[in-house]
Amino acid sequence: MIEDIKELKKQIGLKKEIHLSGNIGTETDDGYINVFVESDLELTNTGRCILVIGKIKGQTDSVCVRCLNEFKLNVECDINEHFYQEEDVSNRTIQPSKDEDYFLYKGTKIDLTEALRQNILMAIPLKTICKPDCKGICMSCGCDRNTQECSCGESD
Ligand SMILES: [Zn+2]
Ligand SMILES: [Zn+2]
Repeated sequence: MIEDIKELKKQIGLKKEIHLSGNIGTETDDGYINVFVESDLELTNTGRCILVIGKIKGQTDSVCVRCLNEFKLNVECDINEHFYQEEDVSNRTIQPSKDEDYFLYKGTKIDLTEALRQNILMAIPLKTICKPDCKGICMSCGCDRNTQECSCGESD
């Protein structure tokens, strides 16, 4: 998801609103995850860097920890990232502060994929449930208690 920022770079204070969508695939400890993301972003030329703020919505295939069924998990998060021009940083024209997290871009093209990936992955919970009131699987007979009734639990 690469955006041209040639116009934005012309003047400090300029803003550009963009909409991005696409698939972001990632290898994680739990295997490969594919997230479909849609994002509305505002890019601002601050003079020092390009500030990227906005919202990201993501949808991914997930498995409910209670009933073990697959479902579509929807997540949302905010994004607020700084992009410095690599050339500025390497020749020390502009130096990000030491405790600042930032991304780099080259020339007049800014690749937002990695920033979107890092932010949306943090929004995905480790344990996902298909719905807040998922009844889960019966520990005794193994039936899905959302769709079947069993009498195992009635005595306790
Ligand atoms: Zn469930
Ligand atoms: Zn049961």
